[in-house]
Amino acid sequence: MARIYFLILITQLAYNCKGDSTSDFSQIKISSDSEVNWKAVEAETTKWLSDYIKIDTINNPDLALKTGKPTGNEIDSARFLKNILDREGIPSEIIEFLPRRAVLYSKLRGNGTKKPVMLLHHMDVVPIEKTRWTIPPLSGKIENGKIYGRGALDDKGMGVMNLATYILLKRNKIPLSRDVVFLASGDEEAASLGVRYMIEKRKSDVDVEFILNEGSVGTIGAVKKGQILFPIQVGEKGSAWLRLEAKGVPGHGSRPPTQSLTSVQKLLRALSRIEKKGSPIEVTPEVKKFFYELGKSQDFPNSFILKNIDSKLIQRLAGGLVAKSTSMNAILKNTISITRLEGSEKVNVIPTSAIAELDCRLLPGTDPDDFTEQIRQTIDDTDITVTKFFGRAANSSPSENELYLTIGASIKKLHPTAVIAPFLTPAQTDTAFFREIGIPSYGMIPGIFTSEEIDLIHGNDEYISIENLVNGTKIIYIATKTVASN
Ligand SMILES: [Zn+2]
Repeated sequence: MARIYFLILITQLAYNCKGDSTSDFSQIKISSDSEVNWKAVEAETTKWLSDYIKIDTINNPDLALKTGKPTGNEIDSARFLKNILDREGIPSEIIEFLPRRAVLYSKLRGNGTKKPVMLLHHMDVVPIEKTRWTIPPLSGKIENGKIYGRGALDDKGMGVMNLATYILLKRNKIPLSRDVVFLASGDEEAASLGVRYMIEKRKSDVDVEFILNEGSVGTIGAVKKGQILFPIQVGEKGSAWLRLEAKGVPGHGSRPPTQSLTSVQKLLRALSRIEKKGSPIEVTPEVKKFFYELGKSQDFPNSFILKNIDSKLIQRLAGGLVAKSTSMNAILKNTISITRLEGSEKVNVIPTSAIAELDCRLLPGTDPDDFTEQIRQTIDDTDITVTKFFGRAANSSPSENELYLTIGASIKKLHPTAVIAPFLTPAQTDTAFFREIGIPSYGMIPGIFTSEEIDLIHGNDEYISIENLVNGTKIIYIATKTVASN
């Protein structure tokens, strides 16, 4: 019986496997970096990052609302970056989108044969839980080969990799076939006001062929012991933020109704229907390719499962695995997080209305309005209104793009055995706004980080190792030089 089942499985998979493609990074002729003194770059980038971290660009819109003072204050870091560029003789412009809130824009001119490439990062950082840090969070302290402080990883570290790349192109007089744009944005950690301002008011300045931004990182041992993996972000999930409001007859808490449901009970029933229905596994093309590339480096049977993740049979067999893994679940399903609940203000009052808010993250191909309608149908209760108060469809960029392949080939130059795969992230960055206007954009801070280091993003005692800072700079330099000088 098991043998017959296995044969059916193989036949179906053989059919499904037709047309699987894989990225050929060897087709890219990578530029040399022999003109660069990397030891000198190490000293310079370490100092820049330490100083950059010292500038307070904590972005806390809630606090700003309470105090009436601006948040982010990216103008200070924009001036810091401008000073460095001034010393190199590179013109740059500080553009204020709100008082004390700014982006820094600069462009190295190419000969115009090709459309520009943009190196993007954000200057603002998330707030700090001061009592949980053992190192002053804005100290930029350098110790044991690490640079500590808020933003070391997200995203001032990448900012310095981009800055060094940009300056090295100028210093080494690399002949450019296209402009290289350096953009340091503001407010990425809240509403991406910086890049949205640029897209609305300065569209021609950001009209580029492709963009490299944050969005993912290299890791080691996440899937297989010792295996280096660079999941290059090619897409971000969309979102639908929903408010459910249930109505019912109010009353005294001492006399719960026996013939009808209260607003709170209706809301709980609706939420339980949503939870019970769940979401099916959907293998989007981006995710299929990610698993396929991953599968190539694995041993049987994992290799077989990963390469054939789009098979319904495999999904049935591996469904349990998916349910166990938070990360797999997030990239294979439309997810629903119940994040807010609101009922009565007093314990002895049955409220007229009860409210829940849902953070739903959507795969490419799912329309936020259609998804909202599905939720209404699942709830199936006319006493409950479902309102979508924010929605954005997912967007993604092609993985056979010149910049994607060049980033992959540049990574391979430093890490020949690394697995490189296109990746869809559940959360959003500035990039979403550029993909929306049709600019292919790729996310990668190209260091190799342990899972403990990745957890420091938005966490406590954030740091980046100097080794990652320099190797990340190398990869971005080689990739930018390759796409901009060939
Ligand atoms: Zn970030």
